[in-house]
Formats: sequence, structure tokens, C-alpha cells
Amino acid sequence: MFDKIQSLIKEKKLTPTDCAYHTLRTLENNGKVRALAIKGEDKLHIELICPFCGAYSYVTQEWIKVSKGSKFRFRVKCPKCEKLVKITKLKGKK
Ligand SMILES: [Zn+2]
Repeated sequence: MFDKIQSLIKEKKLTPTDCAYHTLRTLENNGKVRALAIKGEDKLHIELICPFCGAYSYVTQEWIKVSKGSKFRFRVKCPKCEKLVKITKLKGKK
């Protein structure tokens, strides 16, 4: 089950131009994260399979634009094990 954001996109009929940010990453230990920021919202929707404990969760948090020097795009805390999952910026794509 990893379809919360997918159904959000369907429900709101979002197209790529409605999205300020959208990413789908695989993490260590079969972890997975999908994140979506919708234009006009200051919220980041995050769907996570925790790389530490394997728990599935869906959380929203404030969408903060990170500084240029930051290595990370965003961080999310697993509600289950409370470990911080850091999502790095992708390099070289402009
Ligand atoms: Zn966890």
C-alpha cells in the first residue's frame, strides 16, 4: 500500500503544473518516500516507508524551501520509531 499521494493527485485532478515539488525515491533497507507539494499550499504531503523500522506512514508538514547550500531537500520524522529520514537533493539536474 503506497497509494495515498497517488489518490490525492487523482482526487484533486492534479497535473504536473499544479505541483511545486514532487519526488519519489527509494531509500535504504527497502524504504521508500514520495512527497508532493501542491502550488498554493504551504504543505508537503509525505508518504513514507521508513528505512529504519519499515513502517508505512502518511504525514503532512510545512513545506519549507531550503537554502541553496543545504544538502537536504526535506527531513521527515517517522511517527513510529521517531528517527529522522533525510531526503537529499538530487544532483546535476537543472
Ligand atoms: Zn520508522
